[in-house]
Amino acid sequence: MAAPDVFFGALRAFATHMQPGAPSSEQIRRDRLRALLQHVTAHVPLYRDLYSAHKIDIDKIETADDLWRLPFVSKADYLRVGPAGYTDCGNEALNLYSQTTSGSVGRALTMYAQPKEAAVLHANLWSGWMHAGVSPNDRLLMMSAPYLAEEVEGFRTVFIPVQMSVDELVETFVNVRPTVIIGMVEAIALLSVELARRDIPERRDVRLLFAFGQTYSDQLRSMVKRGFEAETLTLYGSAEAGWLGYECEKHCGWHVPEGRVIVQIARTGQPNEPAAPNETGEVIITSLLRATTPFIRYRLFDAAALDPTPCSCGRTSPRIVNLEGRIQDFLVATNGHLVGPGAIAIDLTVHRPVVIDHRIVQEDRKRVQVSLVLDPNLPSVPPEEVVDLVRRHLGADVEVNVAVVDEIPREASGKRRRVFRTFDLPAV
Ligand SMILES: [Zn+2]
Repeated sequence: MAAPDVFFGALRAFATHMQPGAPSSEQIRRDRLRALLQHVTAHVPLYRDLYSAHKIDIDKIETADDLWRLPFVSKADYLRVGPAGYTDCGNEALNLYSQTTSGSVGRALTMYAQPKEAAVLHANLWSGWMHAGVSPNDRLLMMSAPYLAEEVEGFRTVFIPVQMSVDELVETFVNVRPTVIIGMVEAIALLSVELARRDIPERRDVRLLFAFGQTYSDQLRSMVKRGFEAETLTLYGSAEAGWLGYECEKHCGWHVPEGRVIVQIARTGQPNEPAAPNETGEVIITSLLRATTPFIRYRLFDAAALDPTPCSCGRTSPRIVNLEGRIQDFLVATNGHLVGPGAIAIDLTVHRPVVIDHRIVQEDRKRVQVSLVLDPNLPSVPPEEVVDLVRRHLGADVEVNVAVVDEIPREASGKRRRVFRTFDLPAV
């Protein structure tokens, strides 16, 4: 791992900040915001030009409330200007650490970071479970999301990739005997159902589950409870700004890590109009940890509200409530197994930068429509490759139609659905 001292220092600080009774991070937030605004106006063309056009005096932007005076941005602005416009280092960016937003929730965007910045971002990721008491005594099973694959010294971790078969998955589970599972919520749900079906006793050693990636629906909750008695905490985050909220152990919302991110809720479709406390609106984020690829007043197109009242847990940070996150469907393989939407999306998009957006619609058990938005500047992806990939997940005799399109249309709600079925799920 790059810069281990930076990583462990940041991890300790981040985990401590989220404990009940921790001092306010107001001063840290002001200092980071000031440094960030000075940096982007000097070095990042997208923000330099935008703030210049809006005649913004950054010296007058000091608090989170002042941020409302800055213009908003969205992913479309980043895709329009490209890395030379949205990073601070132009063409040298390719020599830095890069990470691509998961294609599972939208058109992919590549983000860059300096080595120390990457170590801090990685510590921020890990702080998601550290703050809830995960220790080096635990055995961690990390599932599905490729960015969980990196091991951290001092912790016992095993990573399970999306391609692993159910039998391999159960065998790994029994060998590892995890006490903590971290992963995409549908992957945890599928594992849970299988462990219950085979009545694997080691499932009772699991004490904590951290689920993320999509909304924890009633269906997913009942699947997870079938195999595990463990406490489940969900995390709300985005690839752009890391964790936006940690679920309170009182299960009354997601506390915002205020020193690392500023979460604003605007009236839906009116990004310059603050929503009232507890009024559901659209989520707008500012990352206080990213400088090389900054995100300031960036629209996420998620819906939620903020509750600023003190929480019974003792933490003073506001809580995200009424989170209407991402809802995606399981697909159904011809053998009857459910296939997680994240698994198939990751398999399609990781290591295929040409695929900048996608939609996979299962029309019935034997018929799947795949729509791809491809980057015209990169070598295309052979349709047979996509057909094979879908068949690997769903069955060898599934009919797969692959079409290249200009854009994946939005739903009436403004969201884009990427992986879904158009028929009812069989009982599980
Ligand atoms: Zn709380």
